[in-house]
Amino acid sequence: MNYAKTITHRREKELTIKINDYAEFVDETTSDASKHHIALIGRLDDLKTIANIPRLLTASVGMLAESGEFAEISKKIIFQGKEFTENERFHMKRELGDILWYWVQGCKALGFEPEEVMQENINKLEKRYPNGFEVHRSESREEGDI
Ligand SMILES: [Mg+2]
Repeated sequence: MNYAKTITHRREKELTIKINDYAEFVDETTSDASKHHIALIGRLDDLKTIANIPRLLTASVGMLAESGEFAEISKKIIFQGKEFTENERFHMKRELGDILWYWVQGCKALGFEPEEVMQENINKLEKRYPNGFEVHRSESREEGDI
């Protein structure tokens, strides 16, 4: 075995041990609702009067998935040399629509009108950036500015 193979083999062995320890750590730091069906069902039942949980799950998973689809197109254009044609632009338009569809599901899940969510965003950003975007205001925010 040459030096490079020896080092690679050693690193693989070390990595295997570390990843197994990490997997145990992950299991220890995972909630019951994330690991066990009955616990999840109980948690969903606890939450059912607070929000529309089926819509909340649909919105959460859907926004993430559709945002990924949007980002995938950007990634291919920006980093992988894909040509930016009208087809890609149209595809991104469609993905923005998909994100919007799931975003409205999130509003409905929490009992918000879409307009009030937009207004809240405007209020937050006008307070954070009274003179327009400034890096220092982005980096150091007031308490509670999320
Ligand atoms: Mg899509």
